[in-house]
Amino acid sequence: MSKKSVVIVGAGVAGMATAIILAKNGFDVTVFEKNSQAGGRCSQIVSNGHRFDLGATILLMPSIYREVFRTLGLNFDECFDLKDLSSIYKLYFGNGERLVISKDEALMKMQLEAMEPESFKRYKAYLKAGYEFFRDSYKNLLARNFYTLFQFANLANLMMLFRLKVYLKHQTFIRRFFKNKNLQQAFTFQNIYLGQNPLKAPALFSMLSAAEMVEGALFPVGGMGRIPSKLESVAKECGVKFVFNKIVTKIDIDGKRANQLICDDGTITKFDLFVVNSDLPYAYRNLLPDKGLSGRMEKNTYACSALVFHWGLSKPFPAFEHHNIFLSKQYKESLDAIFDHYSLSAYPSFYVHAPVRTDASAAPENEDSISVIVPIGHLNEKNHQDWEALKKGARLGVLERLKIEGFIDLEEHIKFEVCYTPQAWKSIYNVSRGSVFGSIGHQIMQMGYFRPHNRHDRYKNLYFAGGSTHPGNGVPLVLLSAKLTSERILKENHPVDIRSEEINT
Ligand SMILES: Cc1cc2nc3c(=O)[nH]c(=O)nc-3n(C[C@H](O)[C@H](O)[C@H](O)COP(=O)(O)OP(=O)(O)OC[C@H]3O[C@@H](n4cnc5c(N)ncnc54)[C@H](O)[C@@H]3O)c2cc1C
Repeated sequence: MSKKSVVIVGAGVAGMATAIILAKNGFDVTVFEKNSQAGGRCSQIVSNGHRFDLGATILLMPSIYREVFRTLGLNFDECFDLKDLSSIYKLYFGNGERLVISKDEALMKMQLEAMEPESFKRYKAYLKAGYEFFRDSYKNLLARNFYTLFQFANLANLMMLFRLKVYLKHQTFIRRFFKNKNLQQAFTFQNIYLGQNPLKAPALFSMLSAAEMVEGALFPVGGMGRIPSKLESVAKECGVKFVFNKIVTKIDIDGKRANQLICDDGTITKFDLFVVNSDLPYAYRNLLPDKGLSGRMEKNTYACSALVFHWGLSKPFPAFEHHNIFLSKQYKESLDAIFDHYSLSAYPSFYVHAPVRTDASAAPENEDSISVIVPIGHLNEKNHQDWEALKKGARLGVLERLKIEGFIDLEEHIKFEVCYTPQAWKSIYNVSRGSVFGSIGHQIMQMGYFRPHNRHDRYKNLYFAGGSTHPGNGVPLVLLSAKLTSERILKENHPVDIRSEEINT
């Protein structure tokens, strides 16, 4: 019996989850990864006993992890030592005010009512509406394949888009619930998780904050990097072969089918099916022949990028919660700088991941490991971007703000720093424009059937899985992408070469 061969280009979360499903369904799967380790934007670095999650740090929407892990034949909750964070995150507003988003309803009520009378009741109503958007969009928009335009553009879906309030800005929607500007920011800034401008995103994306607060925040001991590690070990148990340090440079086409892969070391290998997990616009531009299609891809709107500082600290800073958000005192200007000028304000908003308080293994005893994520404009050739100056400005802006918020001596306890810039995301992981929260943005006209399809329109044995195809970016959505792409492959292909079967019998 001759199994059909599948190659997966990239050992990111989506690539490995796809590999597992296909191997379990009888395909012969090989993964080619350009770097020396698996995990892509969800991998880790360890230096001098300090461990940092490279990109993903927030385990958002655990219900999706559970669902996709079930498809992989795994029980998500049994795969990891999961800590349930009672404080989801601490918010520092630009005017000195603070808010701990907590599962403790009494604490939430006390804090919210102090900020705006009657707001607790409206907070509950906002969560109900946002979580309803999540459930509706999960069922009707995110967790299903759209094989034809008519499956997407029909009356039922138009009604769904209307229900999801895609016509209304999140900013307008949030004002129905809160008058207090800080509360409005507290429940909309999450749009940045998808590289979106919270001032322009549609109301539908209230599902991010609602899902976070309704489903809570989990953290796997050992860090988010445990997720790709688990996928890698399960894939290997299923017989998936991994080839690391293997850069795919071209997908060779024969007529209307992808035929063979060419790698930077000159090797040429034939496969029956191809799944590209590396960034989709990058693949159209660099691996595939049709420059017209690639040009169209460039016309999409791209998500913002991120500057990330990982700091090994020589003493613990217990005042940090596990997740901490510092919102700019010039909130609108700081968002305009990112999304309109592809740059950064002198007063950036940023996020601090401080996992040691949940998981002591992230740093040597009596020390600390923190990662600071500063959203910033993506690489843009048309705008002058002085990245050295932007990096310096971001570091200064972060340290000054931390001082103001009480972390006075943090800078002098930085033992070492590892920094990832938009160029690094582009060169290390091939993410177009360094747009790590996409790369392709999540505007409504770039979602569902309008997002680049998970099968190439011309080459029918070439599929895509990952953040730039349907349904979108972020670990839960790329897991869903793996499930949907695999479903499509299984629907359209038999795992065994039936012709060779017939010849043999
Ligand atoms: C700073 C930051 C913060 C984030 N925060 C969160 C968060 O808190 N929560 C969350 O859920 N998500 C978060 N994300 C997003 C999340 O990390 C990504 O959505 C997810 O990891 C993407 O997985 P993927 O499989 O689609 O792609 P990738 O991780 O990009 O994997 C693609 C793989 O393909 C490989 N590759 C590329 N080109 C080639 C080639 N030519 N040949 C061979 N291999 C190739 C790459 O090396 C990479 O390993 C964050 C991301 C970043 C960067």
